[in-house]
Amino acid sequence: MNKIEHLGIAVRDLDSAEQIFADILGTNSYKREAVASEGVITSFFLMGESKVELLQATNDESPIHRFIEKRGEGLHHIAFEVVNIHEEIKRLTAKGYRLTNPDAPTEGADNKLIAFLHPKSANGVLVELCQEK
Ligand code: ZN
Repeated sequence: MNKIEHLGIAVRDLDSAEQIFADILGTNSYKREAVASEGVITSFFLMGESKVELLQATNDESPIHRFIEKRGEGLHHIAFEVVNIHEEIKRLTAKGYRLTNPDAPTEGADNKLIAFLHPKSANGVLVELCQEK
């Protein structure tokens, strides 16, 4: 894996979270993007080689909605950039790691193919693999 591509942060209110992270990071969000299949609106900040992704749920079935109901706002996932997501999925599932979605990779925000390792497979951390399309 190449680098931390982004950190995903679950938020209740994207407008106010964007202001807070613009203050903290000293830079504005450079784009918003909805991902209908995940039930989220995302907002991205560029930090050198990595990004911060804010995620707000758009419906009650959204994984982000369920996460916030259970654990409150906060760090949701860490995304690692990979060169070939199909190879990484093969490599990790062969070792017994579970994906949250057996149909992965799926289309993510920011022109990416994505897959999530189940947090039970990774010490409680939701790990996203992402590959530039
Ligand atoms: Zn992400």
